[in-house]
Amino acid sequence: SVPLSYFAGIGGASRQGILIKGSNYLEAMNDVDTVVFDKTGTLTKGQFAITAVHPLEGLDDVSFVQMVAALEASSNHPIAKAILAPCREMDLSGWCTEAHEVPGRGMAGVVRGAKVLAGNEELLREKGVLPLEMKDEAATFVHVAVNGHYAGYIALGDELKEDAADAIAKLKEGGIQKTAMLTGDRKAIAMEMGRRLGLDEVYYELLPDGKVACLEEMEREGNTAYVGDGINDAPVLARAGVGIAMGALGSDAAIEVADVVLMTDEPGKLPVAFAIAKKTRSVVI
Ligand code: ADP
Ligand code: MG
Repeated sequence: SVPLSYFAGIGGASRQGILIKGSNYLEAMNDVDTVVFDKTGTLTKGQFAITAVHPLEGLDDVSFVQMVAALEASSNHPIAKAILAPCREMDLSGWCTEAHEVPGRGMAGVVRGAKVLAGNEELLREKGVLPLEMKDEAATFVHVAVNGHYAGYIALGDELKEDAADAIAKLKEGGIQKTAMLTGDRKAIAMEMGRRLGLDEVYYELLPDGKVACLEEMEREGNTAYVGDGINDAPVLARAGVGIAMGALGSDAAIEVADVVLMTDEPGKLPVAFAIAKKTRSVVI
């Protein structure tokens, strides 16, 4: 039987936009000692903006962005949306005749007869193309290759959510022992964000499988909650002790596999959820 206070806990949480799918999850939250976050769309707004366009010789900025946008039109990634934004008025639909997404890496396909790659350094290297070295700049880069040759990059920036650092501090005050971030993005940007957020651990340049492996390692050492938006991380949400999804921006897959859904996408709702779980238990006992 389920103690009545659990229903009160679930009801109280839902009034704050925190959907808890069952009383067992409320209970499981009390045992969590490690809270692991996805970066994009979870700790950051997931609304990238283009900060620089740098095609190599032969292409002007506008045609370069249009070529990449034509390929990104088949992706739902926040990076794809940012690259498509300046091309909204154009009909690029006939340009791209082949496209596939490499999760956690980028896009590959054919645009106006040319083979195009658009993604991180790894994506290009895997296909034998040497991208420009970006050193320690804290930005996200989409490198581009055309017909097997490096063709330039688009730099993008995303902002931390306003309440992210405060949420992490409150989780620690509430008794969470370790906070960590997993990202497929570059080391420079991951470390900078980790520092600004006060996270204990930062893992970067991970593929979707690498995120699962990382979470499993932490789950062996403690009890984890994982917070993500489901873009390239739904398997991690499914594997965590408690899977917590961002519900507004997040994917349907995330909402489906998660145990808890934050309807307003605010990290600030996390310490609230853990506090409700704690209070509910103290009423039961
Ligand atoms: P995060 O872990 O920050 O949520 P992802 O795992 O979704 O990021 O993606 C990791 C990296 O893969 C991105 O930082 C980007 O470099 C690259 N990437 C993923 N999807 C795309 C895409 N559609 N276009 C270009 N690059 C992409
Ligand atoms: Mg993500």
